[in-house]
Amino acid sequence: MIKSPGIPNDAPLILKLNEKSIPVISEIEFAGRYTNAKMICITGSNGKTTTTLLTYHILKSAGLNVGLAGNVGKSLALQVAEEEYDYYVIELSSFQLDNMYKFKADIAILLNITPDHLDRYDHEFQNYIDAKFRITQNQTADDAFIYWNDDPVIEKELAKRGDTIKATRYPFSMKKESGVKAFVDNLQLVIDAHQDKFVMPVEELSLPGDHNKFNSMAAGLSAKLVDLSKDNIRKALSDFKGVEHRIEYVATVANVRYINDSKATNVNSCWYALKSMTTPVVLILGGKDKGNDYNEILPLVKEKVHSLVFMGVDNSKLHKFFDGVVPNIADARSMKEAIDLCKSFAKPGDTVLLSPCCASFDLFKSYEDRGDQFRDYVKHL
Ligand code: ADP
Repeated sequence: MIKSPGIPNDAPLILKLNEKSIPVISEIEFAGRYTNAKMICITGSNGKTTTTLLTYHILKSAGLNVGLAGNVGKSLALQVAEEEYDYYVIELSSFQLDNMYKFKADIAILLNITPDHLDRYDHEFQNYIDAKFRITQNQTADDAFIYWNDDPVIEKELAKRGDTIKATRYPFSMKKESGVKAFVDNLQLVIDAHQDKFVMPVEELSLPGDHNKFNSMAAGLSAKLVDLSKDNIRKALSDFKGVEHRIEYVATVANVRYINDSKATNVNSCWYALKSMTTPVVLILGGKDKGNDYNEILPLVKEKVHSLVFMGVDNSKLHKFFDGVVPNIADARSMKEAIDLCKSFAKPGDTVLLSPCCASFDLFKSYEDRGDQFRDYVKHL
């Protein structure tokens, strides 16, 4: 049985299949059995899509014969059936990894691990961590494992797992430290792996913010490992267009900037969005809570946000946590209502930020629908 990653492993149908010992696998596991293409696989709690599209962009612009699959792009199985790619860049969620067993990534990227989707992991963070680490399973010393060296969860897990991880390690970091293969030093992004050293001023990276330095290092490392020239990597890291719904600038109306970060469906991604804000903020939070702990963003909310708009069917958890923290708090049950409230709170020079920390399914079809509606209503202001 090939299962869509959206279906939980404790769904009644899946439990019945387990009882009958019928294997349940993911589509990536299935398709991987029918191709010898090199697999570059990307997982993490945040930054997967950005890093996947950036890596794909670098490889494709350099002229490699490469396909895009997983959570973005077309199905891997369809492409394996119809195309003859030499490389695939594949975005892997924890749900896909849950049902992968024999598949091997030639290059595995683990961007970060923060609590997410705990409703699907018995509210046990360790179960989610274990799912993420499946990206290294079956790898040998000829394969590469690229990961964020400064992530405390990854660090602890690597110490625990020791040499059960066989792949050659390529850690990246904000700091130049021994053993680190990519880092930022004196405002230069440095990749010191695979033959010669690649150096590029961070101001030339097309994607802004600290989180995107990590994404650029991870993508740049994998490009270096497939032997791309430094010129090709530099050009592609500087002309990548970015991805919609991720800290996407929409418009400035009455001197208020509107930013769509609808894809911030967990607390950590909202933290990065808030961190990159340089003006006072009106923040839209809310939706389907996945077991969130808002303590992570509390200091940044206190520092930068003067108004909160809660947009969800059930806003009670948000009220319990944030009431009294900022001067203005209001509830909205639709995007139009939320934007009208934001407009009334915002002063010239402010930023209205949709970075909701939550899934969208209570009021919207998807995070794309939520972001599209945000864009549409802002454009009609
Ligand atoms: P994913 O596919 O893992 O959900 P995206 O690339 O779609 O990740 O980005 C989702 C949100 O996460 C972005 O809006 C941004 O705010 C934040 N983000 C992107 N890259 C990172 C990163 N490396 N670390 C933390 N947050 C990030």
